[in-house]
Amino acid sequence: MERVFQRCIYPRCAAERAVDDTTFVCPKCGGLMDVAYDWDRLSPPPSLREFEKKWAQRNQPLNFSGVWRFYELLPFVPRECVLTIGEGQTILQQADTVADYVGVDRGRLYLQYEGLNPSGSFKDNGMTAAFSHARLVGARRAACASTGNTSASLALFCSATGLMRAIVFIGSGKIAFGKLAQALDYGALTVQIAGDFDDAMQRVQEVAGRLGIYLVNSINPFRLEGQKAIMYRVLEALDWEPPDWIVVPGGNLGNVSAFGKAFIELLELGLIRRAPKLAVINAAGANTFYELFERRGLRWNNGTPSLEVAQQHFAKLRSENIRAQTIASAIEINHPVNLPKALRALERCGGVVREATDQEILDAKAKVGAGGLGCEPASGASVAGARKLRREGIIAPGDRVVCILTGHQLKDPNATVAYHSTDQNTFDEVLGKRGVKRATFANRAVQVPNHLDDIIRAVELYS
Ligand SMILES: *Cc1c(COP(=O)(O)O)cnc(C)c1O
Ligand SMILES: [Zn+2]
Repeated sequence: MERVFQRCIYPRCAAERAVDDTTFVCPKCGGLMDVAYDWDRLSPPPSLREFEKKWAQRNQPLNFSGVWRFYELLPFVPRECVLTIGEGQTILQQADTVADYVGVDRGRLYLQYEGLNPSGSFKDNGMTAAFSHARLVGARRAACASTGNTSASLALFCSATGLMRAIVFIGSGKIAFGKLAQALDYGALTVQIAGDFDDAMQRVQEVAGRLGIYLVNSINPFRLEGQKAIMYRVLEALDWEPPDWIVVPGGNLGNVSAFGKAFIELLELGLIRRAPKLAVINAAGANTFYELFERRGLRWNNGTPSLEVAQQHFAKLRSENIRAQTIASAIEINHPVNLPKALRALERCGGVVREATDQEILDAKAKVGAGGLGCEPASGASVAGARKLRREGIIAPGDRVVCILTGHQLKDPNATVAYHSTDQNTFDEVLGKRGVKRATFANRAVQVPNHLDDIIRAVELYS
């Protein structure tokens, strides 16, 4: 056996592929693949505290990166193949006003702000890993389908390194402007398909297969290796003491799958004694995971999930022509590619799935903005979900809760401006037509005539 290889996620199949294979599907059963390590022949750290030493050597690019600082936990590529643009310099911030809103004790709620990444979303954690793998296999072109942030990240990595051509597939009219702006500005070949994300996802796989283009969607298991580092940084910020809950929005379910794999490995390596529970929050208008896990009882079941239950659900979506529909465009996905891996993560770590309406998502997002760290709508789902779980009594007031803020506030300015707008038409145009009734925490601009006395009176009155 090689020290690093790819292995089918289903234990009863366990078919293997070499580390440099780029099909990313099991040759025997067609299932998803994991990046697998023979830890006995590698050198995992004796304790997580070892990683703190690397921060003193941050003049070395691999130690500066918030992903590759943890190289020993994702050693699938030789160090000299690694491509980093300084991703992962993100913060875990205690957020007491958000704690008040969620209903947990002050000092117990933290926001992990992945919007601070170079392209403004957590996707850079995965992209540096996929990109390094692409370099390992000598790829010249890389493609993805995207609701926006994966394409922004891919486009940035291509423009920053000059090593590959970026090709991004997006659904038409479905992409937030901040994200589209990035793909165009970074010079990616941008292919806009007359369809939604699920259509674009299907097509990019066909096209990449036909033309031999390297695929960086979250079906790519190397991306998930990089996203494990988000959890390493959360642990590091909490002095290596796992929190009680990690709450994360769910779209393609790559993040929760990566988080689960990170904790499963840390447990197996004896580097932590218990894993946090994982809470995945769907948008109510794109709630496949909630429907399957909570309503239909679909489980990993020790590696034998009844995926027919999922197939029935997808057949129903198709026959009734139900499309994903939410203001949180980053999670507007009805066919989550990483569903089986997400089931495994919830089984091994323990966890729940909830759905949040666009109203709940936007109100939570406004609370996040007012509490210090702005985020895009999809990220607001984690705070909305935490609040719901607290109200249900599943999260206790004294639990230590980490909500992942997946993307930056400026990714989707239209949603934010419409929420705070004084103009009913602007509100209706963007939010009202989606069933959002009110901007509960709107911070409206004050309208005044251009007269000094009026302006002074207004400032006195409102401040
Ligand atoms: C991609 C993305 C998500 C969804 O993450 P998955 O790993 O696909 O579940 C959530 N929020 C933002 C901002 C994203 O860009
Ligand atoms: Zn298999």
